[in-house]
Amino acid sequence: MAPQEHQDSSFSWIMRSGWHGLCPRCGKGKMFKSWLKIADKCENCGLDYRFAAPDDGPAFFSLCIVAFPLTFIIVWLQVTYEPPVWVHLFTSVPLMAAGCLLPLRPIKGWLVASQYVNKAQEAGTDALWAKLHDVADREKESRDG
Ligand SMILES: [Zn+2]
Repeated sequence: MAPQEHQDSSFSWIMRSGWHGLCPRCGKGKMFKSWLKIADKCENCGLDYRFAAPDDGPAFFSLCIVAFPLTFIIVWLQVTYEPPVWVHLFTSVPLMAAGCLLPLRPIKGWLVASQYVNKAQEAGTDALWAKLHDVADREKESRDG
């Protein structure tokens, strides 16, 4: 298999399993046992999640990317419409809270999934790739059929 092929499929796999919070090995079990807590192991394939210890640094860094444009929108609203302060309580504050909290889970999921894939890639397990493609194929079949 071409290296390029590996990269493409692993990236889309990371995006998908991270976004849905699913096990990066089998794509079925859940990655999270609560809102932001990583499960001990996959309930489906038994993958031990202890390998995945993403510290929240990268997640909060990514948050800044979300919070930054939001701040601009809020400042723009203030300058353009000059709303009274209470308007911000009902618009800007929940907007900021949602903008900061909602992306946390997929970001964490992506970190865990990419850690798993990178680790597997380092180990050079061709079996993993066979498995990943197998899962993807089966998913495609169930979608089409
Ligand atoms: Zn699993």
